[in-house]
Amino acid sequence: MANKLAPVLDKREWQITIVDQNEVHYYQPGFLFIPFGIYNREDVIKPRRDYFPSGVEVIISPIEVILPENNKVKLSNGKILSYDYLIIATGSGIHPEETEGLQNGGWQQNIFDFYTVEGAVALSNFLKYWKGGKMVLNIVEMPIKCPVAPLEFVFLADWWFTEQGIRDKVEIEYVTPLPGAFTKPIASKFLGQFLEKKGIKLTPEFSVGKVDSANNKIISWDEKEISYDLLVTIPTNMGSDVIARSDMGDDLNFIPTNPGTLQSKNYENVFVIGDATDLPSSKAGSVAHFEAEILFENFLRAIDGRELHPKFDGHANCFIESGFGKGILIDFNYDVEPLPGKFPLPGVGPFSLLQETKMNHWGKMMFRWVYWNLLLKGSELPIEAQMNMAGKKGY
Ligand SMILES: Cc1cc2nc3c(=O)[nH]c(=O)nc-3n(C[C@H](O)[C@H](O)[C@H](O)COP(=O)(O)OP(=O)(O)OC[C@H]3O[C@@H](n4cnc5c(N)ncnc54)[C@H](O)[C@@H]3O)c2cc1C
Repeated sequence: MANKLAPVLDKREWQITIVDQNEVHYYQPGFLFIPFGIYNREDVIKPRRDYFPSGVEVIISPIEVILPENNKVKLSNGKILSYDYLIIATGSGIHPEETEGLQNGGWQQNIFDFYTVEGAVALSNFLKYWKGGKMVLNIVEMPIKCPVAPLEFVFLADWWFTEQGIRDKVEIEYVTPLPGAFTKPIASKFLGQFLEKKGIKLTPEFSVGKVDSANNKIISWDEKEISYDLLVTIPTNMGSDVIARSDMGDDLNFIPTNPGTLQSKNYENVFVIGDATDLPSSKAGSVAHFEAEILFENFLRAIDGRELHPKFDGHANCFIESGFGKGILIDFNYDVEPLPGKFPLPGVGPFSLLQETKMNHWGKMMFRWVYWNLLLKGSELPIEAQMNMAGKKGY
């Protein structure tokens, strides 16, 4: 947003201040590849300051609290910033402490996450020497960011164990609270077939109540038990703690947001973007990118005193790495499920929707370059912010 707004706002009237607690920025989609030695820590981290436009004030500090009634943001060192408009992009993170027993004895011994760089690196070190056994991937509860990442993880694990020559010594089980492999029915059926084809057991509708790490078992609220030798967990995802401290969020610290305009439901001069919203769209970088285009327009409308346009349609676009050098692509929004077809050029591609192709894999691998060089800099992509039905079949 800073990269989009800085060039167009009149510098005599506007001052942009960016506050983040972290000097570095993470390419989170890259965390998926670290456990399998495809990327390392350096591949997914860059200095945040390299990506800000000139003329903006950058403050690296935790935010203690937002005081939206007073239009103020208080930093952890006590400094208070005043604002006319606030854009909140505080993201979401994992909270293993929300599940009883998850962080007991087994944490980072035979229980790992890959949603943090530390977790992904620790899992990589574990997998390097693992001789095999039963690997359970468990999603604790929805929503999670990048809801396809857990599927990608088991697809890649199937490939990686095959490469290591130990696939016959590894049992893989995918345990999810959802009724199937994914959130949307058509894609869920399609992706479920891949689990079956790869010999990965799917256990749906399993809501973890606690982890018994002394006996290597996950136990559901209705007392069902699944044993594991290696547990890869996607813990509860929640919005930032500062949202709770500011009393601005729901039970999971996600901020009530207008689904079309991206304005906060409670404060007219506050906008929300990315994982921090409570919207039913996927929590994904692609979604944040499409939201940014709509928010840019609405922000300029707001400061000109115009009515906001409810144009955000929940558009998400996700490459799903499926292993063995192939990938799947899905494109959907609030109302339209992922459908087959070609993307981004209707009938031409080069990417194929809801199909497994080598080209889709290359799209996924190219995405890191696109992320660092185009997305963070606020550049346009040849993809519409709103989902396009052209090129999609079955509608
Ligand atoms: C394993 C994995 C794979 C993924 N794969 C994909 C993919 O293939 N495609 C895709 O589109 N998306 C993917 N995602 C999701 C994507 O990374 C996120 O949706 C995206 O980064 C969200 O951006 P954001 O700006 O909302 O939040 P973030 O990028 O998380 O940024 C939030 C920022 O807020 C700062 N912050 C929070 N609280 C405070 C505070 N109190 N004070 C100061 N600063 C604060 C943080 O330091 C952080 O810099 C993946 C995520 C993971 C974990």
